Amino acid sequence: MIDATFDDRDGFIWMDGALKPWREANVHILTHGLHYASSVFEGARAYGGHIYALSAHSQRLIDSAKTMGFALPYSVEEIDEACRQTLAANNLTNAYVRPVAWRGSEQMGVSAQRTKPHMAVACWEWGAYFGPEALKKGLRLNIAPWRKPAPYTVPVRAKAAGLYMTSTLSKHAAEDAGYNDALMLDWRGQVAEATGANIFFFKDGTLHTPTPDCFLDGITRRSVVALARRRGIDVIERAIWPEELATFQESFLTGSAAEVTPLAEIGPWNFQVGEATLQLAQDYSDLVHGRITGVVPVPSTQS
Ligand code: PMP
Repeated sequence: MIDATFDDRDGFIWMDGALKPWREANVHILTHGLHYASSVFEGARAYGGHIYALSAHSQRLIDSAKTMGFALPYSVEEIDEACRQTLAANNLTNAYVRPVAWRGSEQMGVSAQRTKPHMAVACWEWGAYFGPEALKKGLRLNIAPWRKPAPYTVPVRAKAAGLYMTSTLSKHAAEDAGYNDALMLDWRGQVAEATGANIFFFKDGTLHTPTPDCFLDGITRRSVVALARRRGIDVIERAIWPEELATFQESFLTGSAAEVTPLAEIGPWNFQVGEATLQLAQDYSDLVHGRITGVVPVPSTQS
């Protein structure tokens, strides 16, 4: 059976201030966001009816829009409430939550000053991003054909639709070659992140992760840094070169969709799906389910 396409489902989508029947939540073909990528989005997960780090996601949506030059007419609290309403309207408790904001149809062309900002929130059931086996077996990544751009070439802090062009190209190249995902290097050739998740490495009990100076300092990344420190693990944020991959024993990805997923391989380098990673995966699960409290996500000191 083929799953229902995303435009043809039962349920409700919050759009510009009200819940609409799912199939009626549409935009016109001449929408600035569609033609010029003036669109920003979020991805969060609800666990047992509670959306993890919801206000951090709402704040990032506002900040991403601002970086792209448009102001959302909603506060963090209003976006939080829209997300909760959408979850409840769809009778979901464990779900992925997707807020999105874009420039409308009032103007065509590169200029967009007269466009109006729009916002919508959808949610749907979404199991493990990399499938149920990933936590046990670990993922296989290749090296992406595309690099993360320098911060003076695109607004790297925004979770903006346009930045995913090279993620999709790299993900397709990986999947075509039989891999689960790709490791993207940055414009300097340093290790950056996967196509939709941050990356960490264990070396002799210490955790290493690239400095997020040209990619997202993810909310899950920040949470995992806090969880690791809670266990007394040293976390070192620094430039990591691909030559070093041979020296790491364990590696994993973090993201709201990806959660904590171990890696088994990046190109020619292999990693154990080891206890240190599995412990942090369990800690993250405990955190998002409310079984660990008082852990505050730690933003990068250098982003
Ligand atoms: N990098 C990219 C490119 C992403 O798409 C994501 C997922 N939003 C992340 C990192 C991780 O961010 P977060 O933990 O905030 O979901």
